[in-house]
Amino acid sequence: MGFSVDMLRGGTGVVDHQLSRRSLLNEVKRGRVSKDSVCDAHPELIRAARNIGEPSKTICPICEEVNVALVTYVFGHGLPKNGKCVTDRSDIVKLQRTGHEYTAYVVEACPQCRWHHLLRVLPIAVPKRTRTAAKG
Ligand SMILES: [Zn+2]
Repeated sequence: MGFSVDMLRGGTGVVDHQLSRRSLLNEVKRGRVSKDSVCDAHPELIRAARNIGEPSKTICPICEEVNVALVTYVFGHGLPKNGKCVTDRSDIVKLQRTGHEYTAYVVEACPQCRWHHLLRVLPIAVPKRTRTAAKG
């Protein structure tokens, strides 16, 4: 039942997630990859997409019925192995204050057909202590 970063398609080693998404969708359109195999989002991810996902303007590329929702998972020090689902920017600010480094994974997921794909990976950098440099 473990949901992990490995389950976020396009996760490991891919630099350009948009490119990998596009080529995967091409494969689906050509019938080389079945829809079932790309619409296999973990139930946790679908639940997150439904309940706390950030609505997007992107129509689901597979079912073309609903817009995909964006879900952000953060992994790093002291967080659950499955990642922490982040819904609010203030959560990220709180993490930054801990002084540890975290990585945010932004995933698009379709609550309708369960298509999912990793969109971006963002390091949550610890802000440098430059408070003294503040100008007027
Ligand atoms: Zn869909």
